Amino acid sequence: MLMRLGAALAVPAVGGAVRAAPVIVELQGGGARLELQFAEGFDAALRQRARVWVERSVAAIVGYFGRFPVPDVELLMQPVAGGGVRGGTAFSHPAPYVRLRLGVDTSSAQFDDDWVLVHEMVHLGVPRVPRRQSWLHEGLATYVEGIARTRAGQMSAATLWHAMQRDMPQGQPQGGDEGLDHTPTWGRTYWGGALFCLLADVQIRRRSGARLGLEHALRGVLAAGGSYAVAWPLPRILEVGDAAIGQTTLAELYALTKDCPAPIDLAALWADLGVVERGGTVELRGDAPLAAVRRAIAG
Ligand SMILES: [Zn+2]
Repeated sequence: MLMRLGAALAVPAVGGAVRAAPVIVELQGGGARLELQFAEGFDAALRQRARVWVERSVAAIVGYFGRFPVPDVELLMQPVAGGGVRGGTAFSHPAPYVRLRLGVDTSSAQFDDDWVLVHEMVHLGVPRVPRRQSWLHEGLATYVEGIARTRAGQMSAATLWHAMQRDMPQGQPQGGDEGLDHTPTWGRTYWGGALFCLLADVQIRRRSGARLGLEHALRGVLAAGGSYAVAWPLPRILEVGDAAIGQTTLAELYALTKDCPAPIDLAALWADLGVVERGGTVELRGDAPLAAVRRAIAG
């Protein structure tokens, strides 16, 4: 590295140009230390809005998992033109961190609507799995994100269930499907995985009289050291999760879905849960057979 005046505040970028060092903001939340690293290009007002966004996202995650999943995480904010959160990726090496592509003009309302950061933070709460089984990771992140935000009061229950009713069909098996472990399409990875999580959550609550849910299985995994910092075989995650709730729901559902298509009767499921489509939104009915299960999930 070339030493020069101001070197302490500058790092060499790829190609030899010198760019400013990131602005670092440190937060504590849910027992964790979060380091926000803003690359050059964000103004102070944006950094403040982003800080509020991170705090909201941490609150949603802590409400669901009981604590922040890893003790230390870096959030690398990379500027892109315009407004909105344009993407995120969670990494595990050398330590857990999340890279976020953030519009430099992102408004508070856009931050409030964002799902990307909570999605990435859910990844931090689950051990890494082999790539061909990404459906569990993406499914959990996709499913838990909206529930965590709804429980934290950041989204309405009607919005949550309406989105689930709209999006879950994308997770149904299509022609040639060979089960979740062997069909790595976008739909099966994200929404097939999310559908697995919904079915698991409903079943866990039915069997426990709505006392336990998927979050208790995930908290058990976390308590056993299972976060994104480690890689576990997928069946071990399910086994440890099942043990935490005294059930075999996760293993049973995996056995049914890993090697064969297993389409789900979603219309019947929504009716049982009391989620009824009504003019561009949903009505959440209290007299449905599984209304208590739905309320225990969110709303
Ligand atoms: Zn993801």
